[in-house]
Amino acid sequence: MKTTQRRQFLKQSGLLSAAAVLPALQGKRLLPQTHKQHIPAILGGKSHVKIDNWIKWPIWDSENDEKLLLEVMRSGVWSRAQVVNQFEKAWADTIGTKRCMTVVNGTQALTVAINQAKLGPGDEILVTPYTFIASIQAILANSCIPIFVDVDPETFQMDTKKIEARISRRTKAILPVHILGLPCDMVQVMEIAKKHQLIVIEDACQAPLAEINHQKVGSFGLAGCFSFQNSKNIAIGEGGAIISNDEGFMDRCYSYHNLGLPFGIATGSISSGSFMRGTKVRFTEYQAAIGLAQLTRLESQTQVRNERAAYLSSMLKNIPGVVPYRLYPEVTRAAFHLYPFRYQANEFKGLSRSNFLKALQAEGVPCSGGYTALNTQVFLQEAFESTAFKKLYSRSELNYSTYLMENQCPLNNQLCEEAIWFTQNLLLGSKEDMELIFQSIQKIHREAESIKKKLQP
Ligand SMILES: *Cc1c(COP(=O)(O)O)cnc(C)c1O
Repeated sequence: MKTTQRRQFLKQSGLLSAAAVLPALQGKRLLPQTHKQHIPAILGGKSHVKIDNWIKWPIWDSENDEKLLLEVMRSGVWSRAQVVNQFEKAWADTIGTKRCMTVVNGTQALTVAINQAKLGPGDEILVTPYTFIASIQAILANSCIPIFVDVDPETFQMDTKKIEARISRRTKAILPVHILGLPCDMVQVMEIAKKHQLIVIEDACQAPLAEINHQKVGSFGLAGCFSFQNSKNIAIGEGGAIISNDEGFMDRCYSYHNLGLPFGIATGSISSGSFMRGTKVRFTEYQAAIGLAQLTRLESQTQVRNERAAYLSSMLKNIPGVVPYRLYPEVTRAAFHLYPFRYQANEFKGLSRSNFLKALQAEGVPCSGGYTALNTQVFLQEAFESTAFKKLYSRSELNYSTYLMENQCPLNNQLCEEAIWFTQNLLLGSKEDMELIFQSIQKIHREAESIKKKLQP
């Protein structure tokens, strides 16, 4: 193995950390008190973490991953066939559902699932405003109207206590999103859905292998949707999947993703004719070959992410102004596509979040502020003013200012201003790496006043 690969392997397997783990922290200053290290990097001190410290994403292991991929390439069978079937079976078995069907990406997984759940014009779908834009675009693509349910800032998820107040006679479905890879409160979602006879389609794009009461998320509702985009925990570049236990629904999804041809008809065959409307969003054999390679690592990576996240939280919660995520009590495992905490500037001498982010990045810890509020973005108004929507909805239904007012989410607005994220690859590092993150933030906390003076004169 090359040195970098070897380092990656050691880090992944947790071996690198064994020798290097520091003794219990006990609130002690871990840094040697040399002058240079005391000064924040943003003020000209030495950065705390080496720039190449973090595991690069996606991970690709040439030695073990390329055999199947090369076989596929050399076979010339590139359109969906046996390897895609194999991947779908593997993913359905992993989640514990009867069926899985792949598509070109997570956005299309959601779009197809909503479509084949027979949701369409006139229907309202309840959704969190704290999500990736694709969740909302998939709703609009089916000419449905997204209704926003404000978040619980502690968990970063849709606040299920606020769902029922948002239900109208047009509400047909809930689209819970397990955002950041932290499970949404599906126990409550399913109870409310049952009571009001609503369809549930889970956006589990960020949450493969996350669990509630040992049941994998994505398998609670009618359907669960996953993404295999490059940044996601199963990285294929692009790709997505729908899982479900409803055979009829999955047969329809299959037909829809294959030009309306009956389920079971081999791709490329058109002899029997289409029996329903459809589109063409099929996965390819080489995507499936990459996916099967990624699946071999997912379980151990998920375990490491969970361990590192818990360790990081146990340290970060001791820094005033750093509030790590909270998981619902029924959560038996998270996926940690991202590691989030809330930043409270008042505990950092008023140092703004954007300047905190700059300071932390300067220390060598990659971080971001995450999502901006979705429910006020221009694309919603564009939908409401489109000719298509005008043909499908009445004037009063398309009153955008009323919609805006009714869909205010003040807690989400605040969350979008307080959140700080680490991407999942940081959590694949060693325990020592988590200590480096903690120490970097501790250093900024200690020197917040001088950083603020310099950056916010
Ligand atoms: C990534 C993502 C999607 C869309 O998946 P793509 O594969 O990028 O199309 C949908 N919802 C959420 C929450 C996501 O993170």
